[in-house]
Amino acid sequence: MSIRYYSSTCVNSGDALFHFVNLVACRIRWIMQKKMGLLFLAGFLVCTGTHASYAQQGKTLTQVSTIDALLGGVYDGKMSIRQLKLYGDTGLGTFDTLDGEMLMVDATAYRIRADGTIQIAGPAETTPFAAVTFFNADLEKTLPGSIGMEELTRQIDAVLPTPNLVYVLRIEGTFKEVITRSVPRQEKPYKPLTEIVKSQPTFKFKNVEGVVVGLRCPAFMKGINVPGYHLHFLTKDRKAGGHVLDISVSHAVVKVDTTSNFYMVLPEDQDFYTVDMEEDLSRDVTAVESLKK
Ligand SMILES: [Zn+2]
Repeated sequence: MSIRYYSSTCVNSGDALFHFVNLVACRIRWIMQKKMGLLFLAGFLVCTGTHASYAQQGKTLTQVSTIDALLGGVYDGKMSIRQLKLYGDTGLGTFDTLDGEMLMVDATAYRIRADGTIQIAGPAETTPFAAVTFFNADLEKTLPGSIGMEELTRQIDAVLPTPNLVYVLRIEGTFKEVITRSVPRQEKPYKPLTEIVKSQPTFKFKNVEGVVVGLRCPAFMKGINVPGYHLHFLTKDRKAGGHVLDISVSHAVVKVDTTSNFYMVLPEDQDFYTVDMEEDLSRDVTAVESLKK
């Protein structure tokens, strides 16, 4: 797995013209960084042929912020949906002020609100945490019927070459039961996510057709993303869904995209600079992501 770091340092070139363009690019990038506060913008505006286009070649999961920052209450949007789509057409996340769960599929970002309604997110809306890729399946497996969450993840694990890479999943079919949740919009001062999910609204679907978009991250990504499986669900009619707490498959096919490159966009602002990420928040991640038994 290669992890690419994109610094604001510009690369020198022997070519004089390229060097001049690069100098101008550096200047614009510096201004944009100062103004907008995101490493991403620098790459997006100037380094065509690098960041976004690199992601467009596939095999790259691009992530905004970290799960620990989200757990710590960094809920203000850091990247627009327009920009996020330069990095992928499939993925998951949340929205500015934690206003709903995000599921992106076929380059449409759906917002599943805490009241159960769904909207298509506009290009100017923003996300504080998301991970996306240009989905291109490497593996496909028809899942056996009547399997629950545990067996589902076991079946998928069985076809993966290693637990040490990041995978993006797309599962389509009929589900015997899906239990989801969403999160309500927050007002400042923000409460930690562990507090918010204590009163999270949940939704139950029975014998429903739909699509699950998910990630499977290795254990070593603790603190950065959610180790193991993280799934979001959307009904076939695109009218309901949410973050999956429990799921039971009737007939479904899972497609897996192995993303062996990982690109992080870390916010350059005070919220992110000052959030405490020293502690191991693994227990909080489990509490936030899973169904309370
Ligand atoms: Zn989620």
